[in-house]
Amino acid sequence: MTAAHIVASGLGKRYGDQVALDGIDLLEQGGLITLLGPNGAGKSTLLRCLATVVTPDDGSLMVDGLDPRREPERIEIRRRLGYMPQDIGLIAGSRVFDAVEYIAVLKDHREDRRRRRAVSDVLDRVGLRDVAGERVERLSGGMRRRVGVAQALLGSPTLMVLDEPSAGLDPDERMRLREILTERRRSTTVFVSTHMTDEAAISDTVLVIAGGSIRFAGSPGRLAALAAGRTWVQTDLPPPDVRASWRLVDGRHRCLGRPPADAELVEPTLEDGYLLVRTAVSPSA
Ligand code: ADP
Repeated sequence: MTAAHIVASGLGKRYGDQVALDGIDLLEQGGLITLLGPNGAGKSTLLRCLATVVTPDDGSLMVDGLDPRREPERIEIRRRLGYMPQDIGLIAGSRVFDAVEYIAVLKDHREDRRRRRAVSDVLDRVGLRDVAGERVERLSGGMRRRVGVAQALLGSPTLMVLDEPSAGLDPDERMRLREILTERRRSTTVFVSTHMTDEAAISDTVLVIAGGSIRFAGSPGRLAALAAGRTWVQTDLPPPDVRASWRLVDGRHRCLGRPPADAELVEPTLEDGYLLVRTAVSPSA
């Protein structure tokens, strides 16, 4: 199976007066796509649309030419999907193995031996083999996230949708997750959300989302390059019209915006580019 082909056009979603998504267009097939944005930007809502658990109010979404608004096509999309929601909702009292096997059953893995083998494989992959018999309520936050990743890996999906998979992971766990995502992106269209800029560095495409819209779409390198010639350090307090600034450990200030003529320009990072995009959206933020 090849990586899922995603086409979205003008996706919109409202909750009462609150606009969660406002005209999202997507065209993706394969690779790791990171949704980066502040809390409330619309990341989860977009991921939930992609996972077919939320129906957009406006626009259209097609996965491999299938329309999730039609039930048989939605079911077919779900067969191709590995989804990890923000709240994994593990059933208290169940064991890690059972929690993952339950998803395997829902995914129609009927043959017992092969199903259990598949569950063992994904638990191995996320490093949870040793706690397979543990009750889920005894797991740390990071382990619970890994159970969610294991569930999403089941059945070699061609579309993976992971909502903040790295939240609460320690550095070793984050490294393991990066390896899994890097490995999967060859054969899978992988969407992940995060609000941590360093997480986006390994992606093929970064989508900066704010106020329900995509404000930037491109490679991490292109996002960093947006801040080229607009990032500098200085000893004096930053000028009032600076777009963003913060104090460095050496006491100087790193500034973003329109540099003064004699500014000491520095190499921009992905975070600098992100902050410029974001402050262009909401100057008060
Ligand atoms: P993010 O994942 O970027 O933090 P969300 O997609 O969760 O953003 O939320 C986008 C906006 O939609 C926010 O203002 C949020 O409060 C609102 N929202 C999301 N889900 C619901 C819901 N089920 N009911 C009401 N408002 C919601």
